[in-house]
Amino acid sequence: MLKIHYGFDKFRPGQEEAIDAILDGKDVLVVMPTGGGKSLIYQLPALVLDGVAIVVSPLIALMKDQVDSLNRIGIPATFINSSITPDEAKERMGLVKKEFYKILYIAPERFYNDEFVAALAEVNVKLFAVDEAHCISQWGHDFRPSYLYLSKAIELCGRPPIAALTATATPEVKEDIVKQLAMTNLMKVIIGFARPNLQFGVVRGNDAQKLQMIVDTVSGLSDKCGIIYSGTRAKAEEITDRLLVAGMQAVFYHAGMDPESRSWTQENFLQGKIRVIVATNAFGLGIDKKDVRFVIHHDMPGTIEAYYQEAGRAGRDGQPSLCLLFFAPKDRFLREFFIKGDNPAPETVIEVYENLKNYETERIFTTYAEIIEGLSDKVPDMAVGTCLKILEKEGYISRSSEKTSSAYLRFINNHQITLDFVSKKAKKQVEILNKLQTRFARELFEGWEFDLEEVAGILEVEREALVRSINAWKKAELVEYNPPKRGTEIRMLKRVSREDIKIDFSALREKASRAYKKLDEMEGYVYFFGCRPQYIMNYFGEDDVKPCGQCDNCLSGNKGLRIKKEEGQEITNSAGYKKRFYSKKQKETDFDEIKIEKKTLSTKLTQLETLELFTKGKNIEEIARTRELVVGTVVEHLRFLVEKGLIKNIDKLVDKKKQEKIMAAIKRVGAEKLTPIKEVLGEEISFDEIKLVRATIKR
Ligand SMILES: [Zn+2]
Repeated sequence: MLKIHYGFDKFRPGQEEAIDAILDGKDVLVVMPTGGGKSLIYQLPALVLDGVAIVVSPLIALMKDQVDSLNRIGIPATFINSSITPDEAKERMGLVKKEFYKILYIAPERFYNDEFVAALAEVNVKLFAVDEAHCISQWGHDFRPSYLYLSKAIELCGRPPIAALTATATPEVKEDIVKQLAMTNLMKVIIGFARPNLQFGVVRGNDAQKLQMIVDTVSGLSDKCGIIYSGTRAKAEEITDRLLVAGMQAVFYHAGMDPESRSWTQENFLQGKIRVIVATNAFGLGIDKKDVRFVIHHDMPGTIEAYYQEAGRAGRDGQPSLCLLFFAPKDRFLREFFIKGDNPAPETVIEVYENLKNYETERIFTTYAEIIEGLSDKVPDMAVGTCLKILEKEGYISRSSEKTSSAYLRFINNHQITLDFVSKKAKKQVEILNKLQTRFARELFEGWEFDLEEVAGILEVEREALVRSINAWKKAELVEYNPPKRGTEIRMLKRVSREDIKIDFSALREKASRAYKKLDEMEGYVYFFGCRPQYIMNYFGEDDVKPCGQCDNCLSGNKGLRIKKEEGQEITNSAGYKKRFYSKKQKETDFDEIKIEKKTLSTKLTQLETLELFTKGKNIEEIARTRELVVGTVVEHLRFLVEKGLIKNIDKLVDKKKQEKIMAAIKRVGAEKLTPIKEVLGEEISFDEIKLVRATIKR
């Protein structure tokens, strides 16, 4: 069967065990790296079992391709998602019932649809496969509330065997998948994550250095294609500009682009027409390009899972590829900003709900900006999104996907007066005004809600021209106009008083603290001095991994965090590592990079040694004496550690009363310069103390 349909002679590691278990009626949890052949694990049993396999996948954009390629090799499969009409969905469901199709791909949101759920009850489901199963876990990096409905959906299907598949899972996420899906009689198939062809490295630098290093690295890899990840959209565009100026071909990609540009970029990258993509983490899910030779991170990601997933897009063909992470201590702030947006305060969640209750209708159309306006504290957009997500998950509201509301237009004066106002020279405006008058005179006089796109089509003018004209009239106070807005339609499901709101905030607090823990572990990777793949594998629960021999630390001879200078061990730079990767194209610029790295490594070590002594309870003078450093240097280390958040509490360093005084002074004169602060405070407080307190607000 494997040969007939797929043309393979042999199974890849793990596939056969998993398939046998499914055919035995067991539940299976499959953890396999991307490209390991996960989909075969549910596709083959689906062919053999008499009945239908349901495959839940969040990757709507990929469903059509998956189904097409199955059909090409003679496997009857179909999909139902938001890209097809309700009639088509109905028709396909009918054919699924008749078992005309053996595999049905659906998006998890489909289970919100009552009609679909009712139809499902009549389908003979013999296997329920959950792809990207880590999305069910709140402790994962890609949680999707719709996945929580799956255990109910499985019951509805008559509780067939479950196959849960994922490419990333820490021990706790694995546990969570099993628990949430209520898997029993379980077989776990876990294939190692190590990717021996990937060469890992970390380089520290400030923003300017990072940009330069990216330009140098990319130009050193002249004809190879790769992905550069950046923490923000603005940065992605900036990096792209720099690469273009330096004469390299690069294109950016982020969620703020319109869908056509995004798929154009994606397509051209897949076909090898674009060499370098600079993207936010919106790029890559489901992208399967084999010959990506490098993945560079401009900023530190928030979790090891995210990092390994993104870096793992390099070298899918097994050929040597480079995974380079640039970082600056302040990268942590960006991540903390995201964590805060992802974990709003309980009061904010309640306040958002209370404000929604003020609307009298059950269906509310609103924008994040409007919701923020109603809050007592300013919060970022992202936090509003999270509040709504929480309220939805807890059953207080439901949301439909984002929508654009109608525009509203009303003419204040009669047609002739308006026409007289509009300059005769503005021919286009006159044309549009007359066309509007001919078609929609009554509506325009009474006030009219309409769709810009549609009306532009009817009038046979460009949408932009229509909008420009209306805006000009609005400016001249000839019309009343509200442009369409993008927003969310919310449905109130429950109206309860404030005291009766039952949301498990302790779970939310735990989620936040886990996010910080994951961030710490990511940061641990950056500051780690042992073998990098080993660190990552340990994180994923694999303990018996040998040093890779090719990451920056392996090549520089570092054997672990506890290297001491006294042991006479020289910390070398990563020249060997660089040389190896650049061996074919050694450029002069590479030597600059090596210098930067050398400095980086020694700085990293010295500050961590200070941290170790500090956590042992030593004070500044004692640390200076032990380390044979001047006090000023130790203070600099501590300032750095405080700024980075590695030292949270500075009470042992600066007396509490003094801290308060310094903060008050900063409030008065600002934190930019030390001298004005010192002038306010006088002799009693030292520059060092000011520096340390100031560091707490910088973190
Ligand atoms: Zn290594």
